[in-house]
Formats: sequence, C-alpha cells, structure tokens
Amino acid sequence: MRNFKTKFSPLALLLVSITFMLSVPLNAGAADLKEGERYTLTVLHTNDIHGHVDKLPKFATVINETKNNTGLNVLVLDGGDIFLRGEFQEFQGIPEIRMMNAMGYDAMVCGNNDFRVPPAGGTPSDGNNQLKALSETAQFPLLCANVKMKDSGQYSEFVKPFIVKEVRGVKIGIIGVTSMKPQDRDWTEVSDKVFERGDITLNNLINTVISEADVIIVLSHAGLIVDTYMAGTNGVSAIIGADDHIVMPEPIYYATGYGETGTPIVQNGGEFEHYLGRIDLTFEKTGNAMKLVEYSRCLYSMEDVNEDVEVMSIIAEYRSEDSEPCPLPETGCDIGFPVLAIVIVALFSGAVLFRRKKSLS
Ligand SMILES: [Zn+2]
Repeated sequence: MRNFKTKFSPLALLLVSITFMLSVPLNAGAADLKEGERYTLTVLHTNDIHGHVDKLPKFATVINETKNNTGLNVLVLDGGDIFLRGEFQEFQGIPEIRMMNAMGYDAMVCGNNDFRVPPAGGTPSDGNNQLKALSETAQFPLLCANVKMKDSGQYSEFVKPFIVKEVRGVKIGIIGVTSMKPQDRDWTEVSDKVFERGDITLNNLINTVISEADVIIVLSHAGLIVDTYMAGTNGVSAIIGADDHIVMPEPIYYATGYGETGTPIVQNGGEFEHYLGRIDLTFEKTGNAMKLVEYSRCLYSMEDVNEDVEVMSIIAEYRSEDSEPCPLPETGCDIGFPVLAIVIVALFSGAVLFRRKKSLS
C-alpha cells in the first residue's frame, strides 16, 4: 500500500497555525474582517470508507488534535459510501455512523451505496427506514440536494440539501450532491425518488446558498466528471469529492481563468485504500466577497498515531461474538417473529408427540 507522507511537517503546521492566529482575530466573522484580511478554513475529510473501519480510531485521534488546536477553523466532512460491502453491512450503517459521531463529523453526503439496502436491495419502504435510522443515529446532518421524493417533489425528511455552519463567525455553506447511480441502475429501494444530475441542482440552488453564506463548498458524491462541471459554478470555492475512489495527494485544479485561483477538487481513495485528507482554504476579504486566494493539501500518514479508545470500543462491540448489537436501536431489536416461530414449532411438535403417545397407548 502506498504511504503518503503529509506535505506538512509538524513545524510547518505549527508555523501555519501561528500565522492564522496572528492574521485572523479569534471569533472574527466575515463581516468583521477588514478589506484584505485573511481567514483560513481547514477541512478534514474522508470518503468511501465502505465499512473498512480499521483506520478510523487513528483518524479520530488526528481529528481531535486538529480540532483542539484553537488557531485553526476546522470542519470535518464525509463524502459518503460509509458501510456497503464492509464487515458490518448487515447493521445498515449504524456502526459506522456511531463511530462518526465519536469522531466529531460536521456533515456527510449520502453516497449512492448509502441508499442501497444490503446486500442486494429492498423495497422503497426498506430504503426509507434505513435512511431514517441513519439520520436519527447521526449527530450531524445527512446532505443530499439532488434527490427528491417522486410523489411530493420535496426532499426526504431525513436529508437536507445544504447547511450553513458558522466556523468562528464565518458562515460556511456546505451543499451535498450525490451520484445518479441508484436511479440509473434501477434500484428498487429508490424507486420512490427522483435523482437529478448534481451540477444542474447546484446551478438552481447556488444563489439561495450565496444569500445565506460567506463561503461555499460542495460535498460531492457525484464523481469527478460532474465535480469538474460544478467547480466552474460561480460561488463555489472547493469540491470535497468522492465516488471514484481516486487517491489525490494533490487537488485536481480547475482553473476559472488565467491568473485566477482555480477551484480545487479533492478525493481520498476508497474501500481498501482510503485516507484522512486535509485541505486548507485561505480566503481574503475583497469587498463583500471572501475570495479564495490560496490552498494547501495533504493526506495524513497514520504512522505513530495512537488509536482513539472510544472508536476502538465501538468496533470491539460489533466484533464481539457475545454481543449482538441492535442494527436499528430506535426501533428496537425485532426478535418477535423468531420467538413466535419457535413457540409455534414447539407447540406443533408437542401436539404431534401428544397425539402419537395417545395413539400408542
Ligand atoms: Zn464508493
């Protein structure tokens, strides 16, 4: 496996942090920034974990350390496909969501595989129950702007199209868009929904989000081709991508014009080779706008990183042979039918035995 070293040495990270502390007063909102003043947003992100959770305890340690650095303005995001094909897929994403709660995520976008009822599909009602359980377990919002319910034309009650999160006074708009695959592949469990291509949705939504946010990033599970379309959308500063499982040690740079800082697109691999990535986006107050003027990127090496105990304990709980964790905690373990079946079989067997005995006597 390739082992990408971070682009930042600890000393460089410290210097960058000190520079941020000096350049932006704490709790300075975009409105408080003076012309030409700078603000840096640090986005830590994962994508396409697919239930390969072994790295997550170390990711949690790095996330905690980064969030505890008071000189940084941090968001933690996931690009979707969290559980399908993983070791816990029978639990329909609940173990992974519980780990993500412990890791302090701010938002995730639903990947195409997060709509899939494992292992091979289900009814629309199965799909909605799964989405409900995921959203009710998550202590962060599930985003998906380009999927609506067929009957109502509205969003599913379990997802939001976007959120605006204030990070040290600066309003960050995060728009979630996903892949068309569930619809293109005729998955039965999404047959009550309509999927629209992400860039079309983004174009229709962007002005609403611009009116509410200082800075906009797109959290995308739409795939790189659509990401390149979306990177050209006015108002979008970065695309935190997913779906293709491409490892990007450097962002793919979408130039918006000669001499302009382009919109970076990033992705951290997926499935058996996935990373915790980081992108630092530096904005400069220019008139009423926050203009992206610089960015830097790294994929973390997890060498010599300790494992977070809380995330370890969640993994251990689900791996334990003795415990049988409930896949849908809010609805309770459905043991009614098996118990009833055993009782009926037992009564039936007893009745047969009783009749046999009678006939023998
Ligand atoms: Zn995937």
